[in-house]
Amino acid sequence: MTSTLHVIGAGLAGLACAVSATQAGRKVVVYESAKQAGGRCRSFFDAQLNTTIDNGSHAILGANPAVFKYLASIGAEAELVPVEHTGEIPFVDLENNARWTLRPNAGLFPKWIFDRARRAPSTIAIDYVKGLSLITAGKRHTVASTLSQSGTAWRTFWEPLTTAVMNTPANSASALLLGKALRQTLTTRHGGLRSYVPKTSLQQTFIDPALKFLEAAGVRIHFDSPVSISTDNARVIELHIRSGKVGVSNGESVVLAVTPWAPVTKPFLGEAFKPEPSGIVNVHYRVDTADNAPMMIGIIGGTTHWLFCRHGLVSATVSADQELVRLAHDVIAEKLWPDVRVALDLSGRATPPYRVIVERRATPLQDPSFAINRPGPKTKAANLFLAGDWVDTGLPCTLESAVRSGVKAAGL
Ligand SMILES: Cc1cc2nc3c(=O)[nH]c(=O)nc-3n(C[C@H](O)[C@H](O)[C@H](O)COP(=O)(O)OP(=O)(O)OC[C@H]3O[C@@H](n4cnc5c(N)ncnc54)[C@H](O)[C@@H]3O)c2cc1C
Repeated sequence: MTSTLHVIGAGLAGLACAVSATQAGRKVVVYESAKQAGGRCRSFFDAQLNTTIDNGSHAILGANPAVFKYLASIGAEAELVPVEHTGEIPFVDLENNARWTLRPNAGLFPKWIFDRARRAPSTIAIDYVKGLSLITAGKRHTVASTLSQSGTAWRTFWEPLTTAVMNTPANSASALLLGKALRQTLTTRHGGLRSYVPKTSLQQTFIDPALKFLEAAGVRIHFDSPVSISTDNARVIELHIRSGKVGVSNGESVVLAVTPWAPVTKPFLGEAFKPEPSGIVNVHYRVDTADNAPMMIGIIGGTTHWLFCRHGLVSATVSADQELVRLAHDVIAEKLWPDVRVALDLSGRATPPYRVIVERRATPLQDPSFAINRPGPKTKAANLFLAGDWVDTGLPCTLESAVRSGVKAAGL
């Protein structure tokens, strides 16, 4: 087991792969094109706000067992905390100022749907039970073509859930993929729909402990090292990095854990797989009362979908976005601030200092075509395997899928 595994990309998929292979006793080398690890799950110091911020607020569901296992393996379990201590989420409807709290229970059976104090107002248990049709939906169906769009539960539960989990509008999101995620929520003992967030930052929860683990195991990580690949058609024979060539000898393997749009992946993807990007916009506002507000708030009827309130910042998130991503940052910040003001009762407050982060390629648009055509981990080169949230794990493109794909590639 001493032959080297070369892992290209130090996002969550690459790090999970490197950790898993290291634990299995394999010699691992990691190459990352950026100067830091984390990819789409990264933090950085922002001079304008004078604090460390995440590129985008991330929520992790109780139904993400691979993420919890990854954190346990790098000693970072305590770095992920449930929102409001039990994973419950307050919601506000900006159209009628209705406020309620979604309170999913722990345990396998979702008894919360039978308790009106735990679900959205004017909804009944059957509105949630109907979601089971997603689990048996055909490959070509969308969420909107599978579930009834009339009634309150569509607007207050199914549509926001779809946008959050799939980063894709419900009228194009694959019912099959959301159904797979939903099935996961029904098999998780500690409450599949309960939400968790990093205690301090993405970096401190998901990235730094992994780097520390790998460093302690003697794994070399080359930062600022974009890789290109040479094959002889049957297998990868060489990697090219800035400092020169790295030979890939017989018995050595390569895991390509980059995005589907990275040029290095192109030769290894089928013609039918042409993923469209789907954006996420985050505005981090400096708000002195942020820490008094709930950690995570769902917003209905506004431009903003979610607020994350912590460490003196209120972070407004808009998922599945194709429009804001084209606007100037000051326009985006002014557009989202009224939602924040109403949701947090900050009437009269002018827009505070902010930082806008636009991720145009936050995930692929996860429509039926994506669900059908996404590739598995094996490629035409016998010693090259793919990893990344977009590789076919059967689940939507989230941290859970990224980690699973990395562990799977390491196993192969
Ligand atoms: C704003 C935002 C919010 C999100 N919110 C959530 C959420 O709430 N919950 C959730 O579960 N998920 C969320 N996600 C999705 C989650 O971040 C991704 O699923 C996950 O980070 C993907 O990890 P990855 O390793 O597959 O890809 P990436 O993180 O993209 O990693 C790929 C890495 O490969 C590197 N690379 C590229 N080309 C090369 C090359 N040629 N050589 C070497 N290195 C290369 C890149 O620099 C990068 O570091 C969100 C994403 C964004 C952007």
